[in-house]
Amino acid sequence: MQKENLKYVSSGKAKDIYENSSGNLVFEFTDRVTAFDGKKKSEYDEKGEITCKIAEYWFKIMEENGIPTHYIECPTPTSMLVKRLDIVPVEVIWRNYVAGSLLRRYLAGDITLPQGVGTEEGSPIPGGMIEFTTKFEAVDRPVDTDEILSNGWLSEKEIEYITDLTKRINNIMSQELASSGIILADFKVEYGRTPDGEIILADEVGTPDGCRFWKGDDFEKGVITSLDKDVFRKSIGNLTVAYRELFSKLQRTNI
Ligand code: 5GP
Repeated sequence: MQKENLKYVSSGKAKDIYENSSGNLVFEFTDRVTAFDGKKKSEYDEKGEITCKIAEYWFKIMEENGIPTHYIECPTPTSMLVKRLDIVPVEVIWRNYVAGSLLRRYLAGDITLPQGVGTEEGSPIPGGMIEFTTKFEAVDRPVDTDEILSNGWLSEKEIEYITDLTKRINNIMSQELASSGIILADFKVEYGRTPDGEIILADEVGTPDGCRFWKGDDFEKGVITSLDKDVFRKSIGNLTVAYRELFSKLQRTNI
């Protein structure tokens, strides 16, 4: 990507962010990967390009399904042009199965699981569940709706709206993935406000950096095979190979 006309804004875990002369943002998807609040770091060839393509794939499907997003276009294989938003200071997690920090917090005795839900990785959560974490703190910390309201981060109506959008995003992705034999265990999304005050989907969606994807046929045999960042978190394979396999399984070719 030509960077002469771009102003550097910031770097996230995996993306560098620039502003162009029209005031839009350009995300440069890098090969970086981090886990455990940045304590584990590495780089994988092609990761940036595959992740950018997967985010583009899902943004187009979201728009097609009436989910408003900040996506504009991908000018190069590793970059994405998006609208600049005022980012909501709360990250939103949707869970269909028990995994990750939910299980960790349960095992540490910090939380209880919804009634009737099993206590092993891979136990289904009927109807799914939503969780919120902080966005602009050093560590993503779980927050409840009382704290979100008392900090003025979102109104009650906005929490309802975001919950509904996130549920719809889950349904769209889960349905699309079912025909690829992939289970969407959980995912994280972010939202932002446009200058008109509309809340729309921000950051990235459907990437293996921000979702847990499990191979359906293995899951039926009681085995969890991850095609996402858990491969890196758990040091169980080559991340590029897993991301490439996921991308090859995404069904739509006319996107
Ligand atoms: P957990 O809270 O179980 O670690 O993560 C829940 C879901 O959110 C997983 O799909 C995980 O990949 C995603 N997630 C958690 N933290 C982050 C983050 O900082 N960035 C992104 N993109 N996704 C995250």
